[in-house]
Formats: sequence, C-alpha cells, structure tokens
Amino acid sequence: MSSTNPARAARPLHIAIIGAGMSGILAAIKLREAGHENIVIFEKAASLGGTWRENTYPGLTCDVPSHHYVYAFEPNPEWSHQFSPGPEICAYFQRVADKHGIAPLIRFNSEVLAADWLAPHWQLRLADGQTETFDIVISATGPLHHPRYPDIEGLEDFGGACFHTARWDHDVVLDDKRIGIVGTGSTAIQIVPAIVDRVRSLALFQRTAQWVLPLPNPAYSEAEKAEFRAAPEKMAAIYKRWKDQFNNTFARAVLGDEKRLGKLHELCQANLDENVHDPALKAKLTPDYTVACKRLVMSAEFYPAIQKPNASVVTTPIERVVEQGIETADGTRHELDVLVLATGFNAHQFMRPMVVTGENGRTLDEAWADSNQTYRSVAVPEFPNFFLLIGPNSPIGNFSLIMIAERQVDYLRQLIDRIASGACQTVAPRPDAAERFGAAVKDAMHGTVWVSGCSSWYLDKNGTPVTWPWDFERFENDMRAPDWTDFRCR
Ligand code: NAP
Repeated sequence: MSSTNPARAARPLHIAIIGAGMSGILAAIKLREAGHENIVIFEKAASLGGTWRENTYPGLTCDVPSHHYVYAFEPNPEWSHQFSPGPEICAYFQRVADKHGIAPLIRFNSEVLAADWLAPHWQLRLADGQTETFDIVISATGPLHHPRYPDIEGLEDFGGACFHTARWDHDVVLDDKRIGIVGTGSTAIQIVPAIVDRVRSLALFQRTAQWVLPLPNPAYSEAEKAEFRAAPEKMAAIYKRWKDQFNNTFARAVLGDEKRLGKLHELCQANLDENVHDPALKAKLTPDYTVACKRLVMSAEFYPAIQKPNASVVTTPIERVVEQGIETADGTRHELDVLVLATGFNAHQFMRPMVVTGENGRTLDEAWADSNQTYRSVAVPEFPNFFLLIGPNSPIGNFSLIMIAERQVDYLRQLIDRIASGACQTVAPRPDAAERFGAAVKDAMHGTVWVSGCSSWYLDKNGTPVTWPWDFERFENDMRAPDWTDFRCR
C-alpha cells in the first residue's frame, strides 16, 4: 500500500459492495489494497460464493479451465481437474476471502432492496428495514443469477418433485426414478452424464439442439499438484496459455472470423459424427444455426451419456405438464417422477429487483427501459458513484469472468481514488459518452456470430447482444485508465 495513495491522503470513503460472489470479493480485496478500508459487502444469502453457492446441481463444473479460472494473484495448485467441480470452486473463493481478511466485511443475510441517490451519498435500504449511507456503491450481483422458469401450461400441476437447476433439491432421491430435464444449455448438458447411470430413465426435452465441443477433463495427479506448489510459474504459464488460446480462437471466432468459426464447426461436427451413431438421434442433435451463436457447450461426456439405453431426446414440443409428467404435441404422455427445469436465467436483470434511483429521481428501470445501456460496461449516466461489475456489455461470452472483473475493478479503483483524492465528490459518465459507447457497440454487433440467427440469453428484448463486440485487447485498453473527458467530475 503506497503512503502517497490518494485514498489514504484525503477523504476516507464509505464503500458498499452488493454481492459476495467472485467479483464482490475481488473488489473488496483490491480496494483494500489501495487503502480503502471502510467497506461493507452486503450479501443476501448466508454464505459467499455467488453462482458457485447457488448452483449445486450434479455434474457442475466450470468450462473455463481451473488454472485460468482464478484470480491472477491467487493461483491454486490444488485443483483436482482441468475443469474442477463447482464445490471446489466455491471453496476456492472462501479460502481467498479468508486469506485476505474479507469475510469480516461481509454482512450475510442482508438483502439490499433499494439504493437512493441523496446527493452526495447513496442511501441503501435493506430488507430488515434499516437504512445506511455510503459514498460509493458497487453492484457485483452477477449476470446469471435469477432463474428463468418456463411458461409451460400446467407446470404447477406436476405431481412429482420439480425444481430449477439453480435451486437443486438434494432431498429428492433420483436413483431409479424417471427424470425429465427441460432445456439443453450448458447446465443440462453437464447434468445428463452426471445422473444417467443412477436413474431409471432420463428424457431430455430439447427445443433447440446444441453444438458441443468435446473437452476432456483429466484429473491432476498428486505429482502434478506438488510440481505446481513448488513452481508457481508453471501455473502462470498455464494461465497465460489459456488466455492466449481463448483470445486467439474462440473470442475471434465469435466476432465473425469465418476461418476460426469454420474450425470450431469442424470440431463440433466431428464430435457429432464420431460419437453419435444412430442417424435419427444424430439428426435430432444437429443444430441448424452457426456454431457459437449460442454459448458453445463443452462436454466430452454428453454424447456417450445421451446414448445410454435409458436416455432419450424428445424434440416434439412440450404441450403441457400434467400431474403424471409431460405431454408433447404428438399426444404422447411422458411419465415422470422428477422434473428438472434447466431453463437458464433472466440474464438481463442484473441487480434488479433492487430499485436504484439516481439523479432527478430517475430509476435504473427507467434509464434502462429501452436497453441496458452503460458506459464501457461499468457505469451509467445520472447514477453518480454507482458502479457495475460484470454489467451489461462486459465481455461475458468467451472469457474467464474473473479476468474481466479484474480489469473492471482496476478501472473502478481509479475512479474511486479520484473521489478519495478530493478532486471531486461525485463521478458519473457523461450521457453523450455513454450514447457514443452504446452506438459503437450496436454497430460492432453486426458482424458477430451472436446475431447470425439463433435465440440465446445473450440477446436482449431488442435482439441486441449484451456482450462485448470487440476483442479482449480492446477491453483491456478501455479499462486501463479512465478517459476523464467522458466523465462529469463534480
Ligand atoms: P441456457 O443456456 O439459457 O439454456 C436454457 C435451455 O432451456 C435452452 O435449451 C432453452 O431452449 C431451454 N428452454 C427455455 N425455456 C424453455 C421452454 N419454455 N420450453 C423448452 N425449453 C426451454 O441456460 P443454462 O444451461 O443454465 O446456461 C446458462 C449459461 O450459464 C451458460 O450459457 C453459461 O454461460 C453458464 N453456465 C456455465 C457453465 C460452465 O461450465 N461455465 C455451466 C452451466 C452454465 P432454447 O435454446 O430453444 O431457447
């Protein structure tokens, strides 16, 4: 910590971070390192970990390699697999939070219902009725947080157990039961191989087929872990290798690089050709849209699992749910004991239902009525001293979210340091700067694969992707230092 740090030199700031997941923990660590001591993290649940706390479904892993899905300053030699299971990842965040003394800053079971700008402060209203005042608010609530329940007739009539994948009911016994899974996103594709051998039957209700990239998931041996412990530079090398690989292949492909998209298509098609043998099943599992238009699903286990004798793919549309199971449009009744809704998340809700009211009494709902417009993914005009982590237009498609949050936190730290230095009391992006950014984003989306003709959670209600339409270098560059001419500093 530098003694010349503006945070220490001038005005001590009271900072609220909303959410004790990956990005909230990171923000607290980095802001404390920068000398900002007066931090409260509000967490509505009883423990930390964000998405890794909420999701506990069988087969949960992260499809970003573990040695890359880490804070850059906290490599972890103990990862069990190339893609480690969810509980290990949650434990990693707990360990890092403990190591950096973050846990005491967290107020668990404290949901923030509203944030009101009472210049020059934010007043937070909590679910227990208390209010508290802060200079700075950082929303670190995650993009894939609110389960999306399908609008299927009769869902409430189902007689067995029915739950969303992010609300997995571990009291429900799956063994020898008839299971129905609605949805074929990354989540469902991880669950199928994890449970198929335990259940009597598994019916996967597929509305849209997925391209599947086969990524094997080898375990790390004890010898390899010992090597990582002894030589952390080996982990740094893996971290960099994956970063380069994501940047140079995947990330460029989705921006519309035909050659790289073609290569991805070849790999996914070969996976299908080599591993699915029944022509009828292969036809069902063959997507009719460009690879990576939806978020690419990674699994070396899904095709073998879905071909087990007790598994089936149902492509006839669901008509309704009845007490005994699901009825499809061809009149077939699929009898089920357990119905799993792998139907994804309301990805455009971000910190809402929290009501955020900025300057002139304007709410974020009003400001975002047409689209979730930000300035460079981290701030919103007329919401001074209110900042976002992994907000709209973060490069959420194809990179480690941790790497993204690290760049954003460093950027926000610079805005916050400026306030702490006394140079200004409030900082907000200029409306014209946010508009320019929004227009450039929209323009750049044209050539991307996300708008090539599929539906996905990337698209907002206008059909515009909420991702970052440029390469990671541009994001790093945009996040390096604030362009102060784009800000109102008052
Ligand atoms: P998702 O990708 O949004 O998939 C939802 C699935 O439910 C889709 O197949 C969708 O069909 C289907 N669906 C929704 N409503 C339906 C309805 N009314 N009737 C029939 N089908 C319906 O959700 P997800 O699988 O939970 O994944 C969301 C994101 O979470 C992923 O893209 C990824 O970013 C993240 N995730 C990551 C990992 C990881 O390993 N890192 C693992 C899991 C999830 P349509 O395609 O036809 O809309």
